[in-house]
Amino acid sequence: MYNDNPTLEGINKEIIECKQGEVFQQDKKEGTSSDARKFYIESYGCQMNFSDSEIVASVLADVGFQSTTNMEESDIILINTCSIREKAEDTVRKRLRVFDKVKERKPGTLVGVLGCMAERLKKKLLEEEKLVDLVVGPDAYRDLPKLVTEVDEGGKGINVYLSREETYADINPMRLGSNGVTAFISIMRGCDNMCSFCVVPFTRGRERSRDAFSIVAEATDLYLKGYREVTLLGQNVDSYKWENPETGEKVSFANLLELVALVHPDLRVRFSTSHPKDMTDEVLHTMAKYENICKYIHLPVQSGNSRVLELMNRTYDRDWYIDRLNAINRIIPDCAISSDIITGFCTETETEHQDTLSMIELANYSMSYMFFYSERPGTLAARKYEDDIPLEVKKRRLQEVIRLQTQISFRHNQKDIGKTFKVLIEGDSKKSDQEFKGRNSQNKMVVFPKKEGLKPGEYTIVKITDATSATLKGEIINI
Ligand code: SF4
Repeated sequence: MYNDNPTLEGINKEIIECKQGEVFQQDKKEGTSSDARKFYIESYGCQMNFSDSEIVASVLADVGFQSTTNMEESDIILINTCSIREKAEDTVRKRLRVFDKVKERKPGTLVGVLGCMAERLKKKLLEEEKLVDLVVGPDAYRDLPKLVTEVDEGGKGINVYLSREETYADINPMRLGSNGVTAFISIMRGCDNMCSFCVVPFTRGRERSRDAFSIVAEATDLYLKGYREVTLLGQNVDSYKWENPETGEKVSFANLLELVALVHPDLRVRFSTSHPKDMTDEVLHTMAKYENICKYIHLPVQSGNSRVLELMNRTYDRDWYIDRLNAINRIIPDCAISSDIITGFCTETETEHQDTLSMIELANYSMSYMFFYSERPGTLAARKYEDDIPLEVKKRRLQEVIRLQTQISFRHNQKDIGKTFKVLIEGDSKKSDQEFKGRNSQNKMVVFPKKEGLKPGEYTIVKITDATSATLKGEIINI
């Protein structure tokens, strides 16, 4: 194990030294020539997808394409898609209608569908959507330049091969629409869990962890560029495990967290998404040890009832989940917890729904992502169980969950009134350019009046004076 092991610092020191020279490399990539072909990319779904779009941009920029945020002037329109719910795919179909119009106005414009919907539908997408020229799955983005050439030569470009190795570790993402303060770093790809409602294992393939050196190098590069927060991304970060091919030493998620935290005390570290089955006390103790590892955990529960959890194949039951909650509260008392909740899963009874409500109350989540069950073709649940809960019941249960969570979020935030927090300034608040917005360690958005001399990327101390269920309001205090 690496804890307090000199190699840990050794690794970081080595990377910081070698990084100094590389910083400028990246910038040059964005300055491609004016007559370069332009690509426009829209991203939907999870943070993983937004992070992947930055890989796509980097791959295309490397071969001379230039990114644009203006769809009308682009030569290639790309949409990075989500397939987690039916509604997500409906959104993509609507966007394709818009791209259709652009293509009518500018024949020769290429349209490409990337991500989970491309992977789920494969060739079928080309048959169903005639305007689509490119269909590229999450593991095939290196192939994009070649596929574009195939389309230029009159064909269609499709690659939906799912890899067991690909982690894009050597590709430096091009930061798209970045605030220059916070950035995502994907640490692994795929998922080996087989939650019965989920398409991810089918659209993103088997789990593989990225080389720890390349992750620390990317975090160091971002720090040297002025970023002050990184979020380590994975479908299930707790199952991160990497073996150093030279030394055979193993790096667990707790080790990786420590490696990134040691890049610099001013670089905040967040991560998502945790899995209750795999989250260890070692991870919690590592979080408690470093001030710059944020005190916030996204721990999806999905349901509060053990029978439903078994049907969902979540591999833990209600008591196990509560034990994890207790461990967090014991080891990191000021940690905020959020969750994912699905209502109306196959055969869920009213009593079992009440178990989900009581779990939300017990867990005291600061916020949650809440949805009703949407059957996804090809999943275990779609093959084994009837989607038997009527839509109006699913929706009524979802409303009850949302109402309860909103009350708890309000209560959670009201308790912060009078407290002071270290806040990382991310930019202007949505409502007023006289105010800054930024998050505290607990991942809560804080809005406060600006102060002379402060700018995004800097930390400040804010005293909370008011709160809604979504936002804390405060004022900067000198300490
Ligand atoms: S952990 Fe479960 S819900 Fe999450 S991505 Fe993997 S299979 Fe899907």
